[in-house]
Amino acid sequence: MLKPEDAIEMAIDGLDRNDAEFLMREADVFTLAEAAHRISRKYFGDVVTFVNNVVVNYTNICVAKCPICAFYRLPRQTGGYVKTAREVALMVRQFVEKYGVTELHINGGFNPFLTPEYFDELFKTVKRETPVTIKGPTIAEVDYYASLWKVSVGEVLSRWRDAGLDAISGGGAEIFAEEVRRVISPHKISGSRWIEIAEIAHNLGIPSNATMLYGHVENPSHVVDHILRVRELQEKTSGFLLFIPVKYNPENTELYKKGVVKGVASAVYDVKIVAMARLILLDKLKVAAYWLSVGKKLASILLQAGANDLVGTMYNEAVLTSAGAVHKTTIEELTALAIEAGKVPALRDTFHRLISGS
Ligand code: SF4
Repeated sequence: MLKPEDAIEMAIDGLDRNDAEFLMREADVFTLAEAAHRISRKYFGDVVTFVNNVVVNYTNICVAKCPICAFYRLPRQTGGYVKTAREVALMVRQFVEKYGVTELHINGGFNPFLTPEYFDELFKTVKRETPVTIKGPTIAEVDYYASLWKVSVGEVLSRWRDAGLDAISGGGAEIFAEEVRRVISPHKISGSRWIEIAEIAHNLGIPSNATMLYGHVENPSHVVDHILRVRELQEKTSGFLLFIPVKYNPENTELYKKGVVKGVASAVYDVKIVAMARLILLDKLKVAAYWLSVGKKLASILLQAGANDLVGTMYNEAVLTSAGAVHKTTIEELTALAIEAGKVPALRDTFHRLISGS
């Protein structure tokens, strides 16, 4: 039977595809968690970080029609909206005044009616009228708007950066393997294209997160492939800020209604996913315990299984909550959650510089 020491030794040597798949399939959850926890402490100590942020969706109109999504509305469908730059800035200001947020996490959808000028105005207004950094939209949105406006992704990214965008959010990565993407997000960019755009962004000086959506139709080899591809780009650009495993919440989604996914992944699987991320990524990248997708109780366990960041307060989040996730937290609660896991909580900014704590 594999012991944590065996897993640590294998990980420190650098996991290749076969070893990583072997560990994920054969090692039990306690072995993986213990090994990942020790590795996380070796490289990152006991500090657990998070940002105080607000999430605003500039639009929910989207033509991608992902079967995993309960958030979008099609053009002309009831309930569709586009927020003006002033509305977004006003919302952000309210969250700055009420909760002291330092970051705007902004995402939307593939909205065919939006122009380059809309985004210029959006980012410039937020920057002019509030003190926050801006993270988002996703790499998938960057690709969509580049093809809609018939320009290169580099042009979109440079224009957004010049208007005030500080970083790209990690969404849209899903699972890179094409056989999985064909089921869960058939109209989104390929995994290879996602990686290619992340590299372009990093080379333009725009860092990003990398997510991985799990708990739908993937298997261990898809998971390992995804994390290895993130590691590979990180070794090349150092442009990823955080790796965020996101648990799929199937409620209200087409994939669930059609019976392709029958329920949520187990807590054992959640722990294994985070532990495998740490064992593969080692010191190359922070790994998140995303409390909004796994719940706060499990998030504190994940902090003892290789994770060392809680993402953020994520006030006003709407995409995961549309699919059944429950948002209710504060800085104090995330702080307590880290302490309960034996960690030292610290507030950070978008670029992972510490603001307070530790
Ligand atoms: S996941 Fe994103 S891209 Fe897909 S339908 Fe929902 S909003 Fe659109």
